[in-house]
Amino acid sequence: MSGLYIHIPFCKQACSYCDFHFSTNLSIKNEVVLNIIKEIELRHNYFKNKKLSTIYFGGGTPSLLNKSEFEAIFTAINKFFVYDSSIEITIETNPDDISAENLNLWKSIGINRLSIGLQSFNDEELKWMNRAHTAKDSVNSVLLAQEKGFNNITIDLIYGSKFQDLKTWENTLIQAVSLNTQHISSYNLTIENKTALGVNNLKGKEPSVSDDLSSQQFLLMTDFLKQSDFIHYEISNFGKAGFFAKHNSNYWLQKHYLGIGPSAHSFNGVSRQWNLKNNGLYSKAIENKTDFFEKEELSIKDRFNEYVLTRLRTIWGCDTEEIKLLFGETTLLHFLKIAEQKKADFEINNATYTLTNQARLYADGIAADFFLE
Ligand code: SF4
Repeated sequence: MSGLYIHIPFCKQACSYCDFHFSTNLSIKNEVVLNIIKEIELRHNYFKNKKLSTIYFGGGTPSLLNKSEFEAIFTAINKFFVYDSSIEITIETNPDDISAENLNLWKSIGINRLSIGLQSFNDEELKWMNRAHTAKDSVNSVLLAQEKGFNNITIDLIYGSKFQDLKTWENTLIQAVSLNTQHISSYNLTIENKTALGVNNLKGKEPSVSDDLSSQQFLLMTDFLKQSDFIHYEISNFGKAGFFAKHNSNYWLQKHYLGIGPSAHSFNGVSRQWNLKNNGLYSKAIENKTDFFEKEELSIKDRFNEYVLTRLRTIWGCDTEEIKLLFGETTLLHFLKIAEQKKADFEINNATYTLTNQARLYADGIAADFFLE
């Protein structure tokens, strides 16, 4: 079974740190939605098996879609794909879009998982991030969603900003856990050059993130959330038992997915492709039936490198039996040779290699040492 990702590239306002593809020009939202529907029709044969295990509305801010836009997208999905009641259907939303009316709409169209971008419980910090909500909105949005019967909710948090020290970060975690959500995703603030934060950082108006403080906050978080019954199953993701994100787990387990909408990525096991990262050009290309994506065929080396990069971030780790099966004996010997040199970074169980909590701080660097050229 496969996953369907739909990228809704619009936001009310630009968060100061955000490097995702979005536009605050909502005047062409309906046009882009119509082209997203056309793309579903054009690409429904991407999978041999039409059964979906997950649908994920990401962005941008998909909670900006109205009832008729959602219904039109679901009509297209239901025409070309099949799924049953076990499907996970997630929508990313911000606290300011959570209302009784929207929650009722999302429930009625089958959405059963909410990913709410809380980010912080500090109003000053939220303002600095240029978020469109307050800390009170954040808390109320989760409570309202729970009251409306959503029982699979994840919240996003950001650590590493200049507003936090270890004590305030611990308080953030205490508040987050007290909301009784089933899942928490928590990301280290990264300063990207093209964002407002990046520009101000380059001008010397904003400090860089302290790697040392971020590392301490990461370790504090992993201990704290573990004690609160969350399982740390991916570097940035913590779920209660039975509530790991199915859609994102599929990415990390090399399952196939079809990405629809501007900038969306797709993967079918042998190639990867990505759509134009410009709303107007994407729409024009779909309408004119010209190329709207780029594609890369993946060599065995590419696939091995991606396998190590993603698996080392997870509790599933690198399984040596699987490496032999997927990439051959020589690649397995290469893996074992490097793993031996780095054995202090690993826990080994049933021939599966996972990183120690400390080593997860450097997961990408460790993975890079395994890469085949
Ligand atoms: S709402 Fe999300 S996608 Fe939009 S600018 Fe903010 S962080 Fe980026």
